[in-house]
Amino acid sequence: MNEPNTIKAFYHPASALDNILEIFGERYFFIGKPKAVFEALQRERLNFEHRTHQPFTWKDFELCHDPGYVEAVRTGSPIELAESSAIPWNEMIVAALPYISAAIYAATVYSITSGEPAMSLSSGFHHAKYFMGGSLCPFNDLNIAAEKIHREHGLRGLILDCDYHIGNGTDDIITVCNQGEYLHNLSMGYFFSRLYVMHDEYLLLLKEKLSKELRSGFPQYVIYKAAADVFERDPMAKRGPLSLKEIAKRDEMVFSMIKEAGIPVAICLGGGYYSMEANILIHLNTFKACSNTYFNTEHSYNFI
Ligand SMILES: [Zn+2]
Repeated sequence: MNEPNTIKAFYHPASALDNILEIFGERYFFIGKPKAVFEALQRERLNFEHRTHQPFTWKDFELCHDPGYVEAVRTGSPIELAESSAIPWNEMIVAALPYISAAIYAATVYSITSGEPAMSLSSGFHHAKYFMGGSLCPFNDLNIAAEKIHREHGLRGLILDCDYHIGNGTDDIITVCNQGEYLHNLSMGYFFSRLYVMHDEYLLLLKEKLSKELRSGFPQYVIYKAAADVFERDPMAKRGPLSLKEIAKRDEMVFSMIKEAGIPVAICLGGGYYSMEANILIHLNTFKACSNTYFNTEHSYNFI
């Protein structure tokens, strides 16, 4: 099925974990976000079409990670390495990771082959490094997607990382795996952390940096990490740079620039730690901004 004017939403039910709060504790509530956003897309009857995808193999993880680290995550031993992402190790996670990690790859492949935008209901694990995980990120699904797309389609990509936090793992792997010739990482977290730009200034800086990348002719596709943790009330961000309205502005600006450049885009969700309700609202607004830009829908945004 391929309904016109629908955004394909990549989400595999096998990536969902049960009993998250009981097993991991309340502070890990966000692990349930992909399923919650998927159900919200259904509830609001938005113009999306559900797509599932093949999981990664454990060999795929070795494209961008040390085989010793991959084996540690698969087996849970040594436990310090297996839990270097700060997510408690268990067999459910091991079973779900190949599905969780492959969603952005599948969405990006769809986008580059169809020319339409696609949305992966996964986060984009930008803190995972070559030799270990980091800060809630087990395997770097962004670098692996770019590596596979380079090998299979010969394309150069841009990761537009609009998370509050820096994409340090992505940069680590670009260096260790020599991906610089076919992958750029524009991580706004670096500029925000160092220059402390807020609100309109943040949006202006994003416009300038993205415009420069698009004008350079380097990227042939974009993976847009449309994070929710830049929200000014996000507890992990302390003082996030953007209000809810400004996050919607960010999305509109990004999609219109990428559309004008004629480059395919795949979206992933990024971090978000204020509440599940805020996450859903922000990510549905991203979906709506994308649909309004590409399909001339007139979805209105929701703000708390
Ligand atoms: Zn973050």
